[in-house]
Amino acid sequence: MIVGVPKESYPKERRVALVPAAIPALTKAGFEVVVETGAGDEAGYRDAAYIEKGAKIQPSRTSVFETADIIVQVLCYGANDITGKADLPMFRKDQVLIGFLRPLGSAEVVQQIAATGVTSFSVELVPRTTRAQSMDALSSMATISGYKAVLMAADALPRIFPMLTTAAGTITPARVLVMGVGVAGLQAIATARRLGAVVYAYDLRPAVKEQVQSLGARFVELPIEAKNAQDARGYGTAQDEAFYARQRELLAKVVAVSDVVITTAVVPGKKAPVLVTTEMVKGMAPGSVIFDLAAERGGNCESTKAGQTMIEHGVTIIGAVNVASGVPYHASQMYARNITTFLSHMAKDGKLELNLEDDIVRETLLTRGGEVVNTRVREFLSLPALVAK
Ligand code: NAD
Repeated sequence: MIVGVPKESYPKERRVALVPAAIPALTKAGFEVVVETGAGDEAGYRDAAYIEKGAKIQPSRTSVFETADIIVQVLCYGANDITGKADLPMFRKDQVLIGFLRPLGSAEVVQQIAATGVTSFSVELVPRTTRAQSMDALSSMATISGYKAVLMAADALPRIFPMLTTAAGTITPARVLVMGVGVAGLQAIATARRLGAVVYAYDLRPAVKEQVQSLGARFVELPIEAKNAQDARGYGTAQDEAFYARQRELLAKVVAVSDVVITTAVVPGKKAPVLVTTEMVKGMAPGSVIFDLAAERGGNCESTKAGQTMIEHGVTIIGAVNVASGVPYHASQMYARNITTFLSHMAKDGKLELNLEDDIVRETLLTRGGEVVNTRVREFLSLPALVAK
């Protein structure tokens, strides 16, 4: 089977779904690889490097879609809500599509993808299990985003991060608050610590306290307890408005004394909770920075505008989206490893074997044979249960 890598079409996207180093593993598993010319350029991977590792270069997006049995992308239609729709007419029945598809986004879009007959796998749905860890693209991209967010926030801050004792006096370290301690939050804590900041972190899941402390940060304990803070898959859960209001009230003091606030709090399929109100922004010192990694999901800060950086009451509020694309070399390398492991997991003698007994395959499979076949997604999008044929 032929695996095809088109150039990413989302505006300013710099990642690529496969890097040259990933090709030998695919060849070993019996696949051939074709890559659209220039697909890896923005990430630092030239056509020649792909050729050297055994891939063939195709002249256009159309020719990649025509040649390949399996299309691998970073942002597919769904996750790419700007230019992704142009791919729909190119999807073929039983062609396989793997990438970010935003399965819990728009029911209409997911159904449009299904209607083409394409067999799609959504990497957002990879189960959070030990067995699937090496295929977990969501975690890879969150790791990159958490790191990059701290660098961007540090760059926007008019202060330096570490404590310095110099002949010109002593500089106190920056105080960084991380709200939401999932994969991105943990990486943000680690990065801010490496830069020498004093770091505080908060999450409604008390289970993360130890992880926060093991990274040298202090856990912010609030005298409120979330109901069923963590679901069976380890995700934070949605709380009622009374909880969020109390949470904001208690967090206001910690926010006010922070130079940088990095927010990452999201609940799968829901609008992100507001943790920082405009009133709380007003309480921060001028020059402080808020980096809202939840901007794409509605934002944790009331003032955030997705895709924009603005200054409000002297505070810089960064609502950057698609942050992982800003570190394209390693983001692509990690993504390629996740995808290659996933493909190799399903490969048998150069073909894909869709074993639905396997939870990794079953839970990641989104559409097949013209239908949205994923039970969790059907339930979430309020589609009627499928009747077995
Ligand atoms: P996420 O991106 O879904 O959310 C980020 C964080 O926001 C979570 O920690 C969540 O608890 C928190 N949050 C939500 N609402 C909040 C609120 N009102 N106030 C404060 N914090 C709030 O998280 P993620 O990075 O996807 O990780 C989710 C869980 O999955 C974590 O427990 C993580 O360790 C686990 N995980 C497991 C695996 C694995 O086992 N293979 C892989 C990745 C992640």
